[in-house]
Amino acid sequence: MKSFRRELYFNLPTRRGFRNITPEVERALAESGIKEGLVLVNAMNITASVFINDDESGLHSDFERWLEKLAPEKPYSQYAHNGFEDNADAHLKRTIMGREVVVAVTDGKLDFGTWEQIFYGEFDGKRNKRVLIKIIGE
Ligand code: ZN
Repeated sequence: MKSFRRELYFNLPTRRGFRNITPEVERALAESGIKEGLVLVNAMNITASVFINDDESGLHSDFERWLEKLAPEKPYSQYAHNGFEDNADAHLKRTIMGREVVVAVTDGKLDFGTWEQIFYGEFDGKRNKRVLIKIIGE
């Protein structure tokens, strides 16, 4: 069995944002040489997510509004976590949107369902963040 590891680095200029990281994952898969196996992609920070959904800007606006209803950023004082930090909402949003995804690798390609794409979700940006790509197989 082969394995391949890569980290991606992010520092978004805004507090929240989504980035399609499918091309980076495809590049890592191509470099790994693995044809059959699994790809794990996970956020390495507890205020960011990796998730799979449609690359459609209306949907991304819907995610933003939905997450703000569930866990509004402000007022900061509404959260017990916000003693020395102001990012309680980011921890909650990350938990809803998920830590990681796993995608099957078939014939050297990501074996996606219809319209599936991999996204990085930032909920407490303007700082250095990481995503892990781990590929196993042969
Ligand atoms: Zn925190």
